[in-house]
Amino acid sequence: MRANVLIAGGGVVGSAVAWALAERGVSDVLVVDLDLTGLYASSELNAGGARATWWQPVNVETCAATLEFFREHRDELSFQERGYLWLYGSDELFDIAKRKLPLQNDFGLGVEILTPADVVERFPVLDGDPGRLVGATFSPRDGLVNPNAVRQWFRRGAESLGVRFLNRHYVSGVSTARQPSSKRRVDWIEVTEIAGSDPMDSRGSIREILTKHVLPSSSVSSRQRIECDVIVNCLGAWSPLFSAKVGISDVTEPTRRQICMLSVQHEDAARVESLLSLGMVVDASSLYFHPEGRDILAGYSIPEEAPGFDFDYDGEAFFVEHIWPRLAECSSVFERSKHVRGWSGLYAVTPDRSGIAGLVTGFTNLFEAHSFTGRGVMQSFGVASALASWINTGKPEGLVGSMNRDRFSDRSKWLIEDLHI
Ligand SMILES: Cc1cc2nc3c(=O)[nH]c(=O)nc-3n(C[C@H](O)[C@H](O)[C@H](O)COP(=O)(O)OP(=O)(O)OC[C@H]3O[C@@H](n4cnc5c(N)ncnc54)[C@H](O)[C@@H]3O)c2cc1C
Repeated sequence: MRANVLIAGGGVVGSAVAWALAERGVSDVLVVDLDLTGLYASSELNAGGARATWWQPVNVETCAATLEFFREHRDELSFQERGYLWLYGSDELFDIAKRKLPLQNDFGLGVEILTPADVVERFPVLDGDPGRLVGATFSPRDGLVNPNAVRQWFRRGAESLGVRFLNRHYVSGVSTARQPSSKRRVDWIEVTEIAGSDPMDSRGSIREILTKHVLPSSSVSSRQRIECDVIVNCLGAWSPLFSAKVGISDVTEPTRRQICMLSVQHEDAARVESLLSLGMVVDASSLYFHPEGRDILAGYSIPEEAPGFDFDYDGEAFFVEHIWPRLAECSSVFERSKHVRGWSGLYAVTPDRSGIAGLVTGFTNLFEAHSFTGRGVMQSFGVASALASWINTGKPEGLVGSMNRDRFSDRSKWLIEDLHI
């Protein structure tokens, strides 16, 4: 088998890159994924937050472009432009947030500064002690999106433009060759077909392969080579495993992140409904939440979480220890809330909490787009468009060149994002 462009990984990022390439007239694009249903893909397991209010120009630029795309397809993607409310508990972060406002507002984001008193006046349901806050920002053009609809949009669009998606194939090997220029190129990759019924057991072979990186011999059906002119590593949290195969030691660490759904008491439901006018609320304690139907979706990133391919959800204990106390500080409606269910997925975390994208230095035909921490959905269109132009024309578009992995060898080039949850 061969392809002009082979994309390893068909999550939201790989699907977006495939669509953006096909849309630019690039033919013979092939996406390979172990499990296109995405049982363990971050694209299936995230919170649906969509904001362009970041601190690094490249993140603002690519997320603003993505949000514009979400607006154009508002109904198909269930984009709700209800804003992000950030509640700050320390001057240190709030001062930086205020300094970043002109950058964000140059992109037309209309971000406002609020005092703790403004917060209670505008959002009375957030009746926690205002003394715990030093201020807030409200960004009305941010909001919420249906991440699965986004991934499906790119996938359907790509397919309609001739992109092929190869499911249940695990990228198990890579062959590179040195060029006269002393750079290397990827000649072919080896893919291993995984046998099994469809959909595969969520606690069976896919989980085993994606967490332990072993291919159980009983599920291996066949191996083959796919030759390609260009390859793009879009393997998300698994991208370092691919990098290692071509001799690159990666900086990305897969890290578990948990989300839970909770319900409020019937008598509090009307007050919670007033939250529906808001998109995401991010509290000073790094808790984030938003209404999801009649329930509330809430997440919190445990700072001491060790890196690893861990999908175990801590259940009620996660809610009781990490979510409930923070929610109850924010609003009295949560005092009597109850844990309903939850799940965990992987963040692909880099040292500066920004993603990695571009042509891999030392290679002529190996590109990458991954490690978007908690930002892959809201950055998908912007990064994919810029990268597809780069692959198509040989030149980086916009600021995306700054996302090259080489930045990690020079701290002054890091794209540090501290408003990262
Ligand atoms: C709890 C949580 C909350 C989040 N909240 C948000 C949010 O609010 N907003 C936002 O924008 N982002 C959020 N994110 C981040 C976002 O989900 C990710 O950045 C994004 O989904 C990454 O997409 P991806 O395509 O790079 O990776 P993935 O979706 O993980 O896709 C990678 C694919 O690679 C495949 N794969 C892996 N190894 C192999 C192999 N060897 N061979 C073949 N296929 C392979 C997998 O099957 C998978 O389909 C959150 C993430 C989590 C976990």
